[in-house]
Amino acid sequence: MERYINNSIFREYDIRGIVKDDFNDSLVEDIGRAYGTILRKNNFKDISVSGDIRSTTPRLKKNIIKGLISTGVNVYDLGILPTPANYFSLFKTKVKNSIQITGSHNPSNYNGFKISYNKKPFYGKSIQELKKIIIEGNFIESNTEGLIFKRNILNDYNSYLISLFDYNSNIKVSMDCGNASACLTAPEIYEKLGIHVNALFCDVDSSFPNHHPDPTVDSNLSKLIEDVLKNKSNLGVAFDGDADRLIVVDNLGRIIRSDILIGLFVNFIIDKNDYVVYDVKCSKALKEIIEKNKGIPIECKTGHSIIKNKIIEYSCKIGGEMSGHIFFSDKYFGFDDAVYVSLRLIDILLKNKVKLSDLVDSLPKYISTPEIRIDCENDDVKNDIVCKVTNYFKSKFNYSDIDGIKLIFDHGWALIRSSNTQPVIVLRFEADNNILLDKYIKIIKTTFKEICDFEISF
Ligand SMILES: [Zn+2]
Repeated sequence: MERYINNSIFREYDIRGIVKDDFNDSLVEDIGRAYGTILRKNNFKDISVSGDIRSTTPRLKKNIIKGLISTGVNVYDLGILPTPANYFSLFKTKVKNSIQITGSHNPSNYNGFKISYNKKPFYGKSIQELKKIIIEGNFIESNTEGLIFKRNILNDYNSYLISLFDYNSNIKVSMDCGNASACLTAPEIYEKLGIHVNALFCDVDSSFPNHHPDPTVDSNLSKLIEDVLKNKSNLGVAFDGDADRLIVVDNLGRIIRSDILIGLFVNFIIDKNDYVVYDVKCSKALKEIIEKNKGIPIECKTGHSIIKNKIIEYSCKIGGEMSGHIFFSDKYFGFDDAVYVSLRLIDILLKNKVKLSDLVDSLPKYISTPEIRIDCENDDVKNDIVCKVTNYFKSKFNYSDIDGIKLIFDHGWALIRSSNTQPVIVLRFEADNNILLDKYIKIIKTTFKEICDFEISF
């Protein structure tokens, strides 16, 4: 009997699914065998493996390691870690490949695999190649199994981050680790740096009893905002499930969207002719901040793996995307590390003796919607609608088609793109004021109705 594999687990940037349904032991072992095969074919002999705090992680780790060593690859087991500590190992040890077992910000019944190859993200076509090896059973078998070594990287990672900063004055930070992997690093690092922390949900609990570890959903930030206001904190930080993304709240309890946070950093970091990479969902404000600093904006497709590679390609000091992934090559390794990003922000506030709210208010401001997700019946319906409206809009408006279609209006823009992973159309709008924002939204809604008889309600 042919084995059932849910194709949708092989996503654009990682492998992810519901553990009970999608990851039986033999499939996970085969994912290990397939990646081991790819490593051996490219003359790599070693890999580091670690995982986040989810209750299903140990079983997935055991099986993926079993598959990896069957191909003769040696495994360095780094234990339970946030994702950035896994990336850190790629730069601080001789092992250039890794797998992090993590469900990122998804609910507790999910888990998955983020893979690095030769210090870079393994994504897109590479994940499809891995899937092909599994389906065809085209594995390298080794006469001698690889060896398994235990290695502790967590202490080195924490100590390294502590060594990078020297804060000479007091600051109060409300911190929400969502009971997830950031609990293993952020509270200790902050304490050793002498930061006064109001800790919310900073004890590991893989059932995520307080909220899903996804700070990009505003409702998950309500307790953090409350705490910032009640305790008069200088800022609030919330980390996602594996601590590669963060959302910041300012001293007035306002949520700082990631595009604005990147813009804030740009003002302090870039020099003339420096490139800054960001995704199509980001505000025009970010482009303007980069240009004001005489830098060169590079707008690209959404996807943290894409941005990470572009940052290397353009030697950017900083880049990032709306989803909360922010990458520093300036004084760091160029990977997305939410705890590091939060420390850089604190560093700016202390060195410049400024309030976060004042910094935010000094940036250009536009009215924008959050990301709006429209469910479709299936992928065919989604693609058909996007194709039809895209053709129509191309004949009517100025546009950019880097990722989906972004209509450029005189005083704002509208983005329409297909989700890479779900039967969902993603929309985002921005304008100089609310009246124009409503006008742009109306244009899109009317066109969807007229061209595709598709009602958008939000
Ligand atoms: Zn994450």
